[in-house]
Formats: sequence, structure tokens, C-alpha cells
Amino acid sequence: MAQFAVIGLGSFGATVATELAALNHDVIGIDSNKKFVESISDTITHAVIADATDERVLDELNVKNCDAVVVAIGDDIEASILCVLHLKNLGIEKIMVKAKSKAHHMILSHLGITKIIHPEEDMGIRIAQSLSYPMVRRYMALNNNRYIVKAEITTTLKGAQFQALMDNSPEIKSLMLQRGSHVIYEIAPGTILQEKDILIIEGPLESLRQLSSRFL
Ligand code: ATP
Repeated sequence: MAQFAVIGLGSFGATVATELAALNHDVIGIDSNKKFVESISDTITHAVIADATDERVLDELNVKNCDAVVVAIGDDIEASILCVLHLKNLGIEKIMVKAKSKAHHMILSHLGITKIIHPEEDMGIRIAQSLSYPMVRRYMALNNNRYIVKAEITTTLKGAQFQALMDNSPEIKSLMLQRGSHVIYEIAPGTILQEKDILIIEGPLESLRQLSSRFL
């Protein structure tokens, strides 16, 4: 069990705090608005009404003992930055900050914050991609160009041979095929694909894009 602090309990911060608590972690939630604190007080370990721009408050709440702190103050950029400065002064190393604008992002990266989150933009990108690539269930970026993708076999590919699907994509590695509760790591070339099979593959973006057209 780790200990986390979430500062700013709007919809993003409250979701992070609730999920961390559901994962059995110790969570301190801080917000200056009584209404947000009250609505989460039964869900997380400790919910406090406080101004996170006050360094003494952060010190008294022992935020420095946390394994990581999430700053989820959105609109009030000044408050977000002040809070981040205090957290840095307290010696906290793992700080994740929600940024609302490019200027906010720039200031945070100048302050040495490496985990800057843009939840609305990230979600917008994911939704656009899920509409464009409906077969993609999940994906993970390995670096700027390589991805691991979890894709569902569509009606179009039902009955196709696994090798025939992968033949023109030598740069793509198949990691596993999941059929119901059965997982196959060494996929035989002659495997006949079934609808709803889940294929997990890895490769460069361009090759993955080309392969995706076979699913449609
Ligand atoms: P959401 O996550 O709901 O999209 P948002 O990005 O619009 O939120 P805000 O609503 O501006 O961001 O801020 C999130 C929360 O941070 C609010 O509940 C607000 O009360 C809280 N907050 C703002 N300033 C402070 C502060 N100085 N100290 C503590 N909490 C603060």
C-alpha cells in the first residue's frame, strides 16, 4: 500500500483519488471547496478543506511523506504553480500535474515537472483514434514511433489465416493471441482467425496503420 495526495478534487482529481483508494492505497485529498471535500470524504482515507497554495498547510498535512502527489487544480494556474513550487520546496520528487494550457505546461516543465497531464486532450485524441480505428481496444506508446496494440479480429478477417494477415507486415511482431480465456503466445502461421479473437502486436506506427486497413 502506497500513500498519495491529490490536490484539487474536481472531476479529474476526485476520479484519481477514488481509483487510488479503490486500489487500497492511502489517499489524502485536499480542496479549498468544502462541497468537493465532503462528497469524497467517505471514499478516501483523509479529505481536507485547505488552501494548497499555503506551504504550511502542505507541511502540516505531511504531504512530504507521500509516494507521489497529483496536482489537479485546473483553471487557477497561479494556484497550481504556487502549489507545485511548495511541493518542490518540501522535497517531493514524484509530482504529476494537470495542465490546462500551453503556457501552464511550459511553466511546469521549466519548474522541472516531467509528468504533465492533459486529460481532456488525451481523451479527445483517444476518442478520435477509437472512431478511426474501431478494432483497436487499447494501445501503448513505447516511444515516438512504436506502439503495442490490442486489436479485435473483425468479421472481415474471420476465417483468414494468421500468416496471410501478417505476410506484408514484417516489421510487426505478434506478441499473443487471446481466444476467450485461452492465450496463445507462439501463434502457428496456419491459425485460422475467429471473430472476437484478440491480437496483441507491436511495431512502427506506419506499419500498424497499414495493417489496420485489413481489419476494415
Ligand atoms: P475538473 O477536474 O473538474 O475538470 P478543472 O480542471 O476545471 O477541474 P478546477 O475546477 O479549476 O479545475 O479545479 C479543480 C479543483 O481544484 C476544484 O475543486 C477547486 O476547488 C480546487 N482548487 C482550486 N484552487 C485551489 C487551492 N488553492 N487549494 C486547493 N484546492 C484548490
